[in-house]
Amino acid sequence: IKRIGVLTSGGDAPGMNAAIRAIVRTCSFHGVECIGVFRGFQGLVEGDFEVLGPRDVNYIINKGGTILKTARCAAFKTSEGRQAAYDNLKKAEIDALIVIGGDGSFTGAMVLSKEFDIPVMGIPGTIDNDIHGTSHTIGFDTALNTVVDAVDKIRDTASSHKRLFFVEVMGRDAGHIALNAGIGAGAEEILIPEEDLGLERLLESLKKSKKSGKSSSIVIVAEGERLGKNVFELGEYVEENLPEYEVRVSVLGHMQRGGAPSCFDRVLASRLSVKAVETLLEGQSNFMVGLINDQVALTPLEQAVKGHSPIDKDLLRVSDIITI
Ligand code: ADP
Repeated sequence: IKRIGVLTSGGDAPGMNAAIRAIVRTCSFHGVECIGVFRGFQGLVEGDFEVLGPRDVNYIINKGGTILKTARCAAFKTSEGRQAAYDNLKKAEIDALIVIGGDGSFTGAMVLSKEFDIPVMGIPGTIDNDIHGTSHTIGFDTALNTVVDAVDKIRDTASSHKRLFFVEVMGRDAGHIALNAGIGAGAEEILIPEEDLGLERLLESLKKSKKSGKSSSIVIVAEGERLGKNVFELGEYVEENLPEYEVRVSVLGHMQRGGAPSCFDRVLASRLSVKAVETLLEGQSNFMVGLINDQVALTPLEQAVKGHSPIDKDLLRVSDIITI
């Protein structure tokens, strides 16, 4: 292997730049050229490449987003699109590809690798933390800190006015952000896709919370329909059924994806990236690098993309106990 391509794909996440930087420098360390591919698989289909040297990635470890840009690419789902991508890789003499992204991006990488026998590696970059084979994805920790910061601020105003806030966070299909940030921000209730205890229980719990003398309440809601209602409908429902509460709704939205990556995410991105490059140079392929029991570990891409990783049930219990 003389030339390794790298791209970021799917949703962006803080720490992707730290990964790009580490990949570029690990390549240089081992005497391999690194080629940046812009806009994910779209750039592969169009041949939008640039050679990256160690000095091209100065001052990016601290930056959110991705300098390579990211995209969702419909053309790559067609065999013509992937043929064009492969032709461009050949022309640029790229021997292997590292894909930083989520399960969709890994699926794209696997399909390409199968069709054209090109070695690929995946690095989990998504704030959702929903990938098998790693306890943490790059960007998850930063997103949690962002959410906790925001909820702390909402709590200030909530307790001054004795209000109940429903705060919607990202994670339509996976409750990792809601559950962890909910515990970290001291939320009274956390509504996630993995668990539906019903509307009655929510009302009971809020009633109890009011009686116990709490001056404010925060309910963290993972985006999408929870208990059969969106976040605004939930707010209305509670206000109708518990007139003692004055309800407000806050949707945090895309701010959760932005910002400087936390130290944890920078270190994680650096560790996973060194391993991704070195795994390719050892002649291995089709793995995702992840963190298991705080050790960098390889998981076959095929397994990494199999559904969403389960939430930690113990966290649910912790949350129930400490919100008493
Ligand atoms: P994420 O990586 O965050 O899960 P997406 O699911 O949007 O993001 O996938 C990113 C890109 O990966 C898609 O836009 C597409 O180009 C590529 N991709 C996803 N699934 C496939 C597939 N089955 N075959 C080929 N390419 C795919």
